[in-house]
Amino acid sequence: MSVKITKSNKATSSEERTKMVANPGFGKYYTDHMVAVEWSETEGWGVPELKPYAPISLDPATMVFHYGQEVFEGLKAYRQPDGGVALFRPEANARRFARSAARLALPEMPEEMFLETVEALVKQDFEWVPGKIGESLYLRPFMFATEVGLGVRPTDKALYLLIATPAASYFNPENAVTVWISTEYVRAAIGGTGEAKCGGNYAASLVAQKAAAAQGCDQVVWIDAKERRWVEEMGGMNLYFVKGEGAEATVFTPKLTGTLLAGITRDSILSVASDLGYKVEETMVSIDDWRDGVASGLITEIFACGTAAVVTPVGSAKSAMGTWMTGDGNPGPITMQIRNTLLGIQHGTIPDTHNWLRKVL
Ligand SMILES: *Cc1c(COP(=O)(O)O)cnc(C)c1O
Repeated sequence: MSVKITKSNKATSSEERTKMVANPGFGKYYTDHMVAVEWSETEGWGVPELKPYAPISLDPATMVFHYGQEVFEGLKAYRQPDGGVALFRPEANARRFARSAARLALPEMPEEMFLETVEALVKQDFEWVPGKIGESLYLRPFMFATEVGLGVRPTDKALYLLIATPAASYFNPENAVTVWISTEYVRAAIGGTGEAKCGGNYAASLVAQKAAAAQGCDQVVWIDAKERRWVEEMGGMNLYFVKGEGAEATVFTPKLTGTLLAGITRDSILSVASDLGYKVEETMVSIDDWRDGVASGLITEIFACGTAAVVTPVGSAKSAMGTWMTGDGNPGPITMQIRNTLLGIQHGTIPDTHNWLRKVL
């Protein structure tokens, strides 16, 4: 396998690019290239092609517009102290992409091909990788149904695309995120698509995000569909709780029940927190545990985690049952320690004992 390369002949000038990368925001600028791979039932996977970033043209009857057969991933490339660039656990994204695809009746891209496309784009557009701690080049692989037709059936053609956008550090130490615990809407039920990273999950979540905003909250917290009391996730991030303080603290996160998205950041923090000497648990967390825990002071810190923001402190939680405050509204010490450790590993300033980094350059 190899990637066919067609370089852009109107790439961004280095002055312009330097300005963009110095103040990247998120999803504001895209790099000069993208990677495309076509799949069809009869031909299988085509040859990956790296080419100039450009709009695509699709027939209005293309299936994805009508039935939403789409999956995506999100991963980051980080600058290293030697000026090189490394990806963080891209193999885990490759595996999850294939699992998501299988759930949406899309083809499973071989792990090696996924990694090859990501490495090819990072190598080509490495000058777009910002340099400061917390900054990165965010990579967005995605795939969708491209068969033309309105019949409802799994597509016999798909297009995989990979794009990249330089990303600022999300973190705002002044503001812990405030959350609205939604008792009105459901994100995922057993047998549904909650474990798959698909656009449809997000489409269905936006009305709840709007309801959260109407309550003055930044994010939605989802509870389970059946008993309506188990805490699952926050928006597009997983949740962590800290019980107790100092070296004796326990760091725990809702268990994967089949409706949560198995975050790679979540998984990494299980190891990082344990390496730091904390007790670590994956367990069922109810909204009563949350309310009573913060009221009694047993729960000292809450944070959310995901590739985009890495670790974000969670402050007050609001719901139909009342408002509960965690700590004093400032990021807690264990939250910050875990965040800084994970970022240190990603940027190559803390030893990568789990072999999570994949050097690209
Ligand atoms: C992507 C995602 C996460 C976080 O996963 P990471 O692999 O850590 O980025 C959590 N929840 C949902 C719903 C997601 O889509």
